[in-house]
Amino acid sequence: MNHRTIRDALQEAQQQLAALPETEPRLEAEILLGFSLNKQRSYLYAWPDRSLEPRQLTRFLELVTRRIRGEPIAYITGHREFWSLDLKVTPDTLIPRPETELLIELALELIPSNSSFTLADLGTGSGAIAAAIAAERPTSRIVATDISPPALRAAKYNFKHLNLINIQTHEGAWCKALPQGHKFNLIISNPPYIPDSDPHLTQGDLPWEPRDALASGADGLNDIRHIIEQSPDHLATGGWLLLEHGYDQGSKVRRLFKAHGFRQVSTRQDLAGLDRVSKGQL
Ligand code: GLN
Repeated sequence: MNHRTIRDALQEAQQQLAALPETEPRLEAEILLGFSLNKQRSYLYAWPDRSLEPRQLTRFLELVTRRIRGEPIAYITGHREFWSLDLKVTPDTLIPRPETELLIELALELIPSNSSFTLADLGTGSGAIAAAIAAERPTSRIVATDISPPALRAAKYNFKHLNLINIQTHEGAWCKALPQGHKFNLIISNPPYIPDSDPHLTQGDLPWEPRDALASGADGLNDIRHIIEQSPDHLATGGWLLLEHGYDQGSKVRRLFKAHGFRQVSTRQDLAGLDRVSKGQL
């Protein structure tokens, strides 16, 4: 009765998942079935006629139901790929976004290879930014901070699992978490920047993510203001501050940078052509 081949199970799930807005139902069905079977997606293509055991089918249907209720696929599987690294993510961490890879590209332009450059990733969450830079610049020394102990635990797990030994973690709010007396060459952050009343907070994956990692006051700039104010005390002369922000915050962020003594202030657009990252040099 309750017998399904891989092909049938995928097709049914795909139809059900099509009810969710802005998803790729086929891909998600494959990810969830692969996860239920503890196999790669390629296995599903190799064995479409194989029957699922009742236990496997039950597990798969439970996961599809969770997804249809809106739970992000990254929280269901506990993983998200970022900069080709497989990261553990939990409901205590933001789910790393593709647009944040722009922050990594700009950071790599500033960090020479084979140097003992020091940098801090403030509000590291899952550790995505610190991990990507550590993997690309193994001789740099990185401090990754977060105010949330469970987020920092997820980050530490990722650094260990990825064998990234050039990252230290510190708990605390923005620059207050940084070691006293050290002047960094670069401070980088993807802080929360969504205005508190923005309707996006109720859409897609966002209602499931930690609100403190997403929203930041009436104009979304509360945390960015703190970081720009605090950073000059922790940067070497010539050091850079590099921040991700909202698509409509570029000019305000550049003004804040200039008001706090930064030069060479500029903004770069993401793949969608939207203002996304600003930087300035002390
Ligand atoms: N730095 C982490 C990331 O980019 C977390 C960002 C956040 O929680 N705002 O994924």
